[in-house]
Amino acid sequence: MNWLLMVLVASAALYGTLAGALVPGARYRLSVEPNEPWRTTAPCGHALGGGIGGGRCAACGRARYGPGAVWPAGAAAVMCAVTAAAVGPRPELAVWLLVIPVGLVLAGVDWAVHRLPDVLTLPLAGSTAVLLGLATLLPASGGTWTGSLLGAVTLGGAYLLLFLAHPAGMGFGDVKLAAGLGCALGWYGWGVLILGGLAGLLLGSVYGLALLLTRRAGRGTTMPLGPFLLAGAWLALLAGGWSARP
Ligand SMILES: [Zn+2]
Repeated sequence: MNWLLMVLVASAALYGTLAGALVPGARYRLSVEPNEPWRTTAPCGHALGGGIGGGRCAACGRARYGPGAVWPAGAAAVMCAVTAAAVGPRPELAVWLLVIPVGLVLAGVDWAVHRLPDVLTLPLAGSTAVLLGLATLLPASGGTWTGSLLGAVTLGGAYLLLFLAHPAGMGFGDVKLAAGLGCALGWYGWGVLILGGLAGLLLGSVYGLALLLTRRAGRGTTMPLGPFLLAGAWLALLAGGWSARP
């Protein structure tokens, strides 16, 4: 590992820690049923204020959001550092680092209330497409924008077909998430796109099967698919970033 990569990995870990500490507040704020407004008060009753805050209520410092800020900050730090190590000094790394905390919030909200809010999935897809378009203008980019746009249409379309074929199996939020993830995966080409799409389905299926086998769920139980789509896409992006290295 050369010095540039070491600096890059350390900076990514520091950024991940800071961004990950904001995840619990955002997850808490957005974890409501579809017909309810976003939360405006902490579990203790204090107003959430303008910021999305860390893992605790800013007013009294006592009420924690879910598991607190330590786990999300640690997870984001590790994910950002590993991503930086795999991708190296390339412009698309900045896009992946911006997407990781948003992905963690989406996974947390989907896990809590089984939905993927438009307020996150649509900007995720739109900004990934725009930022990767900018990344192709910079030197040393490791992918193609055409691949990204084709990836968004292909993975979004594939999930739209799955959704239309079996509407009870997933939500329409999964389709919008798939379009955004397809945009990121397609950057590295068809192989990474297919790998990421299948990895997400495989991880979700393994988890669903484990629930059935341990009798923690019946056939009619719904489970969130978003966290598995996100995890599968992340693993495939690591593979894509690694294989695109010079
Ligand atoms: Zn409070």
